[in-house]
Amino acid sequence: MPASQAFERRLQPVLHAAARCFGTPFHIYDEQGIHETCTAFDEAFARTPYREYFAVKGLPNPRMLKILAGRGLGFDCSSVPELTLAAQAGAVGHDICFTSNNTSSDELLAALKLGALINIDDVAVFGKLEDLGQVPDTLCFRVQPSKAVDTGESYLGDVESAKFGIPVTQLVDVCARAQRRGVTSFGLHMMLGSGFLSTEPFLRTVDLLLEQAERLRAELGITVEFINLGGGLGIPYEPDQRRFDLAGLGSSITERLERWERQHGVRRPRVLFESGRFVTGPHGVLVTRVVNRMSKAREYVGVDAGMSALMRPAMYGAYHHITVPEGGDRPTEVVDVVGSLCENNDKFARRRELPAVAEGDLVVIHDTGAHALSMGFNYNGRLRPQELLLRTNGSVERIRRAEEERDYFATLDFPPLRMAPEDISAGAS
Ligand SMILES: *Cc1c(COP(=O)(O)O)cnc(C)c1O
Repeated sequence: MPASQAFERRLQPVLHAAARCFGTPFHIYDEQGIHETCTAFDEAFARTPYREYFAVKGLPNPRMLKILAGRGLGFDCSSVPELTLAAQAGAVGHDICFTSNNTSSDELLAALKLGALINIDDVAVFGKLEDLGQVPDTLCFRVQPSKAVDTGESYLGDVESAKFGIPVTQLVDVCARAQRRGVTSFGLHMMLGSGFLSTEPFLRTVDLLLEQAERLRAELGITVEFINLGGGLGIPYEPDQRRFDLAGLGSSITERLERWERQHGVRRPRVLFESGRFVTGPHGVLVTRVVNRMSKAREYVGVDAGMSALMRPAMYGAYHHITVPEGGDRPTEVVDVVGSLCENNDKFARRRELPAVAEGDLVVIHDTGAHALSMGFNYNGRLRPQELLLRTNGSVERIRRAEEERDYFATLDFPPLRMAPEDISAGAS
């Protein structure tokens, strides 16, 4: 999807100045757009107690997390550094949910210390809490989808191979164990996948979780107090894709829960989300500059960013829309847009029709507000770019500097540590 026209209108007056002032490449995030998405969430779920826990892995920048915290969002973390980021943004206690997998005792201790709402991904992880002697009063249990719909970018509903969640056949046992250990408040979590553009997978998730909630009530007398539907709300990366119907999801979920409440005579659970992509994804773009034009069997546009800034096209074959700010009246041509990595899949676009560009032109890659910089890596000594924030008042802040060589070498000691000859002879004697 092209960035919203409103974002493009806000970006246009500052784009060249920002490129001059800070240099390229950079991701730039649109504060106004993020506020609008937060408002849309609040409106869609006005009739259902809900909370959105932003998935920190989507955009782990403290400045951005503070903006989201200011909107009342909590944070979904799955590692110790993500917990640190959430705490640093001001999140305390159940403002944080910890949805990890293959979790170590040290990670659990870090989450416990912050009082985070812990999502148990496996019986083994519950065993670790028991061993630590620190089973909290409130726990959430991640349930493995038993049957699901197979759409979306990455799909977790395949019981044969999904590493996430407690199989439904083990759920009652682990919850009974939790009851014996003093857990009094229960939640259930399920995430079917990511990048869904229809509401159907989420309604299916609600149904599957309510089914398990009924079992827990019948067999253990547990009232499930909240259901966490995970992340996975998609955004239209391609121009002709539809937008996710958030308002429709809100009203469908509300209806389902109200019906369930009437049927079963118990209070309906609160609804939690852990969205990443939907909250910030469309509100960021990667601004690059053309460094080379190359003519081979195809025409190539070489830009000054690559997979270290955005690896979704290489990793998932994902489409990211590309525009040329100065390209309005130019004739188009069909090109591959490439970075500099020694990997032939370091391409932002293949055979894309774009306005003709020359060395020095700016090229804007869309929808990089989530899972973009955060996924970047340093293979080939390629460094990650800076991040900028376009404020609601039109000013631009740099919220992360670009990596430099010193960052790449930060884990090395120069000159290399060597054993001295006398150490070797001492060890031999
Ligand atoms: C990645 C992830 C999310 C966020 O996914 P989005 O597709 O960005 O919404 C939420 N919860 C968990 C457990 C995840 O692994």
